[in-house]
Amino acid sequence: MNDKKILLITGATRGIGFTTAVRFAKEGYTIAINDINEQAGKEAIEKLRGQGFDADFFLADITKEEEINAMVKEVGEKHGRIDVLVNNAGGLLGRNPVETMETSFWNKVLDLNLNAPFYATRAVIPYMKKVGGSIINITSIAAYNGGGPGIAAYATAKAGVLAFTRATAKEFIPYNIRVNAVSPGVVDTEFHSQTSKELMEGWKQGIPAKRFGTPDDVANCIYFLTSDEASYLVGEVIQINGGQDFR
Ligand code: NAD
Repeated sequence: MNDKKILLITGATRGIGFTTAVRFAKEGYTIAINDINEQAGKEAIEKLRGQGFDADFFLADITKEEEINAMVKEVGEKHGRIDVLVNNAGGLLGRNPVETMETSFWNKVLDLNLNAPFYATRAVIPYMKKVGGSIINITSIAAYNGGGPGIAAYATAKAGVLAFTRATAKEFIPYNIRVNAVSPGVVDTEFHSQTSKELMEGWKQGIPAKRFGTPDDVANCIYFLTSDEASYLVGEVIQINGGQDFR
């Protein structure tokens, strides 16, 4: 078994995921980053190894349970342990009002944002049970307030992630596996590449902190939740939103 702790993080070649990978690497973790984008994966690994970090890339589309299972098996067998899983990959996939939404769109959004965390959680448990560990899910302010226009499917999926966090927290704490979540407001990443500048500016005015969140803001909370300092936090959700009302 590898002496160093192992982080497996999905969708981690950019944005919150990549920044979180760097944070854990600085804490001495060996990093297994996943993404659906192979080129981005190669570049992310070059950056991590260039800073002297121990990191590998695992290509998988996390909406496919067989790809997740194969990836988790590869990581688990390579290192003999998986200490932290961050279910990070997610996205809006566009904005669609429910009235005209295709069923296939609804299903794709739920596959990415809700089913994938289920597949990954189920797959890591046999490895995590050996050493105990942490699972962090990323939900969203949209799970509470319904979010901006045309994101009913995303908001619904992220609300499901909240319930999944609380239910799995109870199920796995007997194995010393803590499940918690973070709930960002607006974080300035490529996630918002299709969001209009006007909408973004309007949101910023409504944030008491008068700024968007950064990937570091989120990465720091994720790391804290997995640390020994948070050892009695079980099924908790940390809001990271600059003071926005979220209910
Ligand atoms: P991002 O779009 O910058 O990064 C998402 C990553 O996931 C990308 O690298 C992408 O290639 C990868 N990905 C997409 N589909 C995938 C798949 N099927 N398999 C594997 N990888 C896949 O987004 P981000 O802002 O870094 O968001 C990270 C998480 O935070 C997401 O779960 C998102 O819903 C959540 N979140 C973001 C915000 C925000 O304002 N940015 C707010 C609340 C919650």
